[in-house]
Amino acid sequence: MLQPALSLVLEALKEIRESQEKTFRVSRATLNRLLESRRHQNVPDIAARAASLGRVRDRVCVCTKCPHLARSRTQTVFGVGNPDAELMFIGEAPGADEDARGEPFVGRAGQLLTRIIETMGLSRDEVYIANILKCRPDMPKGAPGNRPPTPQEMQTCIGYLIEQIEIIQPRVMVALGATAAEGLLGARGVMRELRGKWHSYHDTPLMITYHPSYLLRNQSPGEKRKVWEDMMAVLEKLDRPISERQRNYFL
Ligand code: URA
Repeated sequence: MLQPALSLVLEALKEIRESQEKTFRVSRATLNRLLESRRHQNVPDIAARAASLGRVRDRVCVCTKCPHLARSRTQTVFGVGNPDAELMFIGEAPGADEDARGEPFVGRAGQLLTRIIETMGLSRDEVYIANILKCRPDMPKGAPGNRPPTPQEMQTCIGYLIEQIEIIQPRVMVALGATAAEGLLGARGVMRELRGKWHSYHDTPLMITYHPSYLLRNQSPGEKRKVWEDMMAVLEKLDRPISERQRNYFL
């Protein structure tokens, strides 16, 4: 709750700095103007969205729809970020690190995703990050690594993500990898063909790009650049300026 409010304050301060007014010498008229423009941003609305998400989270926490996953998980991994986010990232399922921490994308792939978000000029607190599955897919005892969710597991869990999307109403969504795209669109595709163009999820523009763990496995600059180009398309869709430095960036 605090973070979205802080984001509003920070954005307001940035606006003051970027306006012609001198920093810290803000007239009452300017403040009133800012307050007026903020009125449309609906802080109470953010609180309502946070509360709605909290109610879904409460149901997710005790979910046993997949008894095998309910038995093997440490905890459910709901989602993190701004309940009023313009941009939502969707991965496939928590891995071991996320299962331990209760937060999506905190392992190595998560650190790369955070770097991508920050290079876009955003922060994890400004966007929203969630997965198709809220439980870590179970692994044979002692087996290392993670496995992708099955179509059956995704079908069982997708309702929670749909509720999250309906509450947050992002302007743009990004699906990370073919499994996340399959969970959202219901059909398996080839990443090479899916990425780099706009899809639609119930009228919300959807960009499909490579999963960060694919980039960790495949260090080719060409593949990294493709993800970055997808992210620049996302910034354009959000009407965010792209600096020269960002245009020339390679992840
Ligand atoms: N991979 C995902 O798809 N989601 C996570 O939360 C972490 C890794």
